[in-house]
Amino acid sequence: MLHVEGLEKRFGGLRAVDGATFRLQPGVITALIGPNGSGKTTTFDLITGNVRPNAGVVRFEGRDITGLSPWQVARLGLGRTFQLPRLFGEMTVLENMTAAVREGTLREVVHRALKLLDFVGLTAHADAPASSLSYGQRKLTELARVLMLRPRLVLLDEPFAGVNPTLARAIADRLLALQRQGTTFLVIDHDMPLVMGLAETVLVMDMGSVIAAGAPKDVRDDPRVREAYFGTARP
Ligand code: ADP
Ligand code: MG
Repeated sequence: MLHVEGLEKRFGGLRAVDGATFRLQPGVITALIGPNGSGKTTTFDLITGNVRPNAGVVRFEGRDITGLSPWQVARLGLGRTFQLPRLFGEMTVLENMTAAVREGTLREVVHRALKLLDFVGLTAHADAPASSLSYGQRKLTELARVLMLRPRLVLLDEPFAGVNPTLARAIADRLLALQRQGTTFLVIDHDMPLVMGLAETVLVMDMGSVIAAGAPKDVRDDPRVREAYFGTARP
């Protein structure tokens, strides 16, 4: 589905992403974990064309998408959300949902938007300005909005941050339902129990590189991961 090879991004002297290499299998939910500052968000930015790499290649469904613009990448079927939600604050939640869609009648688009808002538990807020939402609600609106474009691959940057645990569990279940219908996900998150219950595969980043990849329990028990992610002392 996605093949990232030797991806590199330097900010001045800092190597934010330093040779990141990994593959995503179609139809699988993969988690991307790692300490703060390890390069996870920048990796998303490089995949989706928000930042240009200094080196490396990104292939989506066999096609080289390195250096394409964010809208070109989105139109190919690769969607993403941002760690800090990017909504139009003066527009309503429903308007935010429909703004990016170019196909279908208004009636169809609004119907679909309302279904997706129901999916994330935000029906009551459809007519509210996006600026009135809490941080967690804005994250959920972004999640619903990216699904409007029916992406085949979705990159989610900390989708559960600021979302209460009950709702987070419900959203995780809905992601699993979308996965069963064929959508592929790469999810950055820090909620380890949630990630471990959601993802079939876990990638671990440290200092700009992917240092481990595998089933959740194998990755969790990997000594390099314990050292990078948990600190050596933590059992
Ligand atoms: P993560 O998402 O894993 O916490 P990031 O990808 O956001 O990590 O950041 C990786 C490193 O790159 C950090 O040291 C961060 O401060 C730095 N960085 C990220 N974006 C920029 C930028 N636009 N300019 C300079 N440094 C940046
Ligand atoms: Mg980040």
